[in-house]
Order: sequence, then C-alpha cells, then structure tokens
Amino acid sequence: MRCFYDPGYYLPLPPDHPFPMDKFPRAAAMLREAWPEVRVEPAHPAPMEDLLRVHACGYLALIEAGTLAQRARQRLGLPHHPRLLHRSRLETGGTLQAARAALTDGIAANLAGGTHHAFPDAGLGYCVLNDVAVAARALHAADPALRLAVVDTDAHQGNGTHAIFAEDPRVATYSIHVGRNYPAKKEPGDCDVPLPRYAGPEEYLAALDASLRPFLHSVEPDLVFWISGADCHEADRFGQLRLDTPSLRERDFRVCRALREVAAPLVVLYGGGYNRDRVHTARLHAQSVLAAASIWEILPTGPPKSAQHLRCRTGEPPGVPG
Ligand SMILES: [Zn+2]
Repeated sequence: MRCFYDPGYYLPLPPDHPFPMDKFPRAAAMLREAWPEVRVEPAHPAPMEDLLRVHACGYLALIEAGTLAQRARQRLGLPHHPRLLHRSRLETGGTLQAARAALTDGIAANLAGGTHHAFPDAGLGYCVLNDVAVAARALHAADPALRLAVVDTDAHQGNGTHAIFAEDPRVATYSIHVGRNYPAKKEPGDCDVPLPRYAGPEEYLAALDASLRPFLHSVEPDLVFWISGADCHEADRFGQLRLDTPSLRERDFRVCRALREVAAPLVVLYGGGYNRDRVHTARLHAQSVLAAASIWEILPTGPPKSAQHLRCRTGEPPGVPG
C-alpha cells in the first residue's frame, strides 16, 4: 500500500495556534514504526494546471503574496507564510498521487489531506485548497466517465466539497457530522447525516450503519475518497462528539468494511484532528490508515490492538519542535 507524504507537510505556526501541524510528521513516523513494510513515497506539488480546474487564479495569488483581506484571513484561520501555498500544493499533490495509485493498486493513502472546507475562491477552517476536488477534476480530465464518491466522516460538514460538486452528477458526497457545529452554513450534499452535539458512540455508529451502505450501494463508485477525521474523538477541541479511542477505531473498521463491500478503489485521507493531547491526534490518524490496510488485508500481522501501541520509539520525528 502506497502512502504519500513529504516533510514539507509541516509548516511552522505560532506556538499558541490551535492547528496541530506536528501531527503530520508524528503520524508518518508512527506508521513507519508500527508497519515497517509500508511504502511511503514522496508527494509532489499539485501542478498549477490541476489547481486551476477548481481554484480561482486570483485567490491563489493572494495566498502566495500573503495579501488576503483581514476577514478572509480570519476565515482561513492560518497566518501568512512564504511556504503556505507550496505546502498546500504538496498536500493536494499527495491526494492526487494517492488517487491515481488507488486506481492501480486498489488502495492508497495521503498522510494528510481531506481539506474539505476550501471553496474555489476562499479558504476556510484551515483549508487552503480543496485537495479532493482538485484530484477529482484531474481524474475526470483523463476519464470523464469515472463515478467518484466522497465519504466524509470528519466531525464537520465538508461544505467546500459539497458546494464544488453540487452540480456534478459524477461526484457523490456523503457527510456524517455534528449538525449544530462549524460550519454554520451547511452546503447540501448527496447524503448528509447531521448528528446532535455530543453524540456518543452508540448513536454515532447506529447513524453510520444506517446511512453509509445505502449511499455506497446507490452510487456504485469507481473510486472513493475517505476523509476519515480524527476530530470525532471525545478529547477533540472542535469536534463536539463523544467517541473514545476504541469507538473511533470501531468507526474506522465499520467504514472500511462498508467500503470494501462495494469493491471500489479507496483513497484514505486524514481530515481534521485537534485532540487536546497533540500526540494522540497523530495516533488517531495513523489508526485510520492501519484500519484500512488491515481490512484490505495488506497489513501482514493484522491491526494493532489499540492506538496506544502507536508511538515513536525513536523520539520526536524530524521537523517537530520540542
Ligand atoms: Zn473537522
């Protein structure tokens, strides 16, 4: 199973910034340690030609120059950095590479991605570029008949992705999320499953079971992007759900079993994760990748019993400030 990653996914942020950028190098190091056979391949920046199938040229120029208006900067939630656009292009390139790898291999992952709040001309909620939209449009440029599905189990609705594909019948969108949480204005998708705030594991898993299989069987996709989302965890800052670590692992397995049933190639992406325990954020993302690998019967020794086994024996991965 190929996993795409680049150390450039990490971008230094102010120390009090809530986005845990260190989760990318941490989760990659945990995966390599838990699963030495994993094939981690370098991500390349998404070509500008692919970005422009989704994003407005003027918006990209504002990001690159650091000249977003104050209100737009606040909505994005990330400060200017000379490498911000490059970093986002790397992450988007990783999703595009993973999508192409999945079509060949059956499954692949980007060790990041799922930036589902980004709109064509605006970044929202830490999402600069909509990686899934860029990848989907690039795949359609090569094969316009591909039926694509986006399965979004991040705690927040994938509003940018829903809006971008609202008029495109070739991309079906599913989102299970907290109804009264960010983003305040939801965009209708093909299957939206809003949950009450602070829903627990039983309620969450029952809603997932009742909705995901019917969605997948009605779409019969040729490729699925799964935005897993670690922010459904009970200790997340922003997710407003109450899944403990074993329940989140159970969520991952149920999603992957349902995806496996429809036999569509799968792209695994992270989505959000803002755990109060920063190391645990990385652990939960790694857990989702391992769940998919084990359901696809790629992991030689089966999945680890618990996310608590995921750690970094060698200490801090490179690029993480102490
Ligand atoms: Zn989220």
